[in-house]
Amino acid sequence: MTTQDDRQVKLARLDAHTFADWVRSGAPTVLVPVGALEQHGPHLPMGTDAILAERIAEGVAAATGAMVAQPITYGYRSQQKSGGGDHLVGTTSVDAATLIGLTRCLVRSLLEQGVRHVVLLNGHYENYQFLYEGVDLAVRDLGLRADDERCVLLLSYWDYVSEDTLEAVYHGAFPGWDVEHGGVLETALMLHLEPGLVRMDRAADHEPAQLPRFDRLPVVPARTPSSGCLSAPRGADAAKGQLLFDQVVADLAADLTAELGGRPAAALAAGSVG
Ligand SMILES: [Zn+2]
Repeated sequence: MTTQDDRQVKLARLDAHTFADWVRSGAPTVLVPVGALEQHGPHLPMGTDAILAERIAEGVAAATGAMVAQPITYGYRSQQKSGGGDHLVGTTSVDAATLIGLTRCLVRSLLEQGVRHVVLLNGHYENYQFLYEGVDLAVRDLGLRADDERCVLLLSYWDYVSEDTLEAVYHGAFPGWDVEHGGVLETALMLHLEPGLVRMDRAADHEPAQLPRFDRLPVVPARTPSSGCLSAPRGADAAKGQLLFDQVVADLAADLTAELGGRPAAALAAGSVG
């Protein structure tokens, strides 16, 4: 499903000299997708969070002139109330110190090379505060102040899903983002973007998980539905995935352009990346 246009925004496919020219050409923005390797029930691949974050980042980059760095493909420990739990086979996580340290290093390195803006685009619920901590430490390392041209933005892509899109996708039955694990949002997006990786014939069908308001450690495994999904993907289809993708990419691109200004750096010439 990767197109030539998508590939042109990926740093990993770009030579360093072309990248250096691009960095010098304006106010370059690099998006860093962040995901996890985590069970997503019987119907979705374990890499879903990073796949979706990267594809959304590619769409935003194509619309804004930004580039997309290699994703962080491991995430902070899956928690029972938002990802089913770290006890489930298929979930391979890193601890907070690792994610904070990796984020700190990547952000600092990109900014030191002349990248003006770094945007962390998160696709795994549990990552967020540790990404924030890594960014905060990198900003302190570099001594950045509020009036510095360099800055870092941090977001989770589902926070860009509009009320209208929520209504069109869930018809009043939105279960909450915390239990949207292996549910309608991720399944619809994957059906739109990577249909060959989705097995709807294996999809679970059950009510959203009922989890206590507290966290209990060690977790009680039986509280996680046996499917590993915290809500069912019932009703997910590719059309809803396209609606979600197009709306989120458009609003995110508009937000980045408004916050960071115009096209951040010269678009790469067609054919310069392959
Ligand atoms: Zn997920």
